[in-house]
Amino acid sequence: MSDEAKARDDITLFARSIFDRGLTCGASGNISLRLPDGSILVTPTGRALGFLDPAQISRLDPSGVLISGDPPTKEVSLHTAFYDTRATTGAVVHLHPTHSVALSMLADIDPENVLPPLTPYTIMRLGKVKLLPFFLPGDPAMGEAVRGLAGRRSAVLLANHGPVVAGKTLEAAVFAMEELEENAKLAILTRNLDAIGMTDAQVAQVVKQFDVDYD
Ligand code: ZN
Repeated sequence: MSDEAKARDDITLFARSIFDRGLTCGASGNISLRLPDGSILVTPTGRALGFLDPAQISRLDPSGVLISGDPPTKEVSLHTAFYDTRATTGAVVHLHPTHSVALSMLADIDPENVLPPLTPYTIMRLGKVKLLPFFLPGDPAMGEAVRGLAGRRSAVLLANHGPVVAGKTLEAAVFAMEELEENAKLAILTRNLDAIGMTDAQVAQVVKQFDVDYD
């Protein structure tokens, strides 16, 4: 099987798993993967992630222009922004998971680091997640906001919309997205309880031990 055929199958499998677990609903969410030649496979617009046909996945040139397949997601600028600013990016996942979206609406979250330090895995997989403002769906300004970070963050949370996570591989991006949503769920569940999060010293230990980019 060619790299491209395997990538199409992998996107379809992960997308169905994401959809089946309720991590994004209806036709929301989009997934992309960068092929070795620099072209980008991305899920089509208006298609539920649970019911993709691998042959219909859009293929774009590195600048985001459609080469083949169905018309791509309207949120393609989010994906190309990560590929262009983070050379290590092999895949990008954007979903509308309930707890992450809920967290994006809370007035007292830190916009530079939206996830409270509750478990080490979130820090290891995501570093600091930046809150970006609200944009109209499909507004290319979303991509410009990601470009404005100059590759310093692997994950962002769009206010009243949802997270976008980049990873070296599709599996890494999906796992990091799952970790983000789990942390958001824990943050909501423990809100206004006497939960004890990690201390600054514990966070520093994790950052050092696992060589996390946490500036
Ligand atoms: Zn979206």
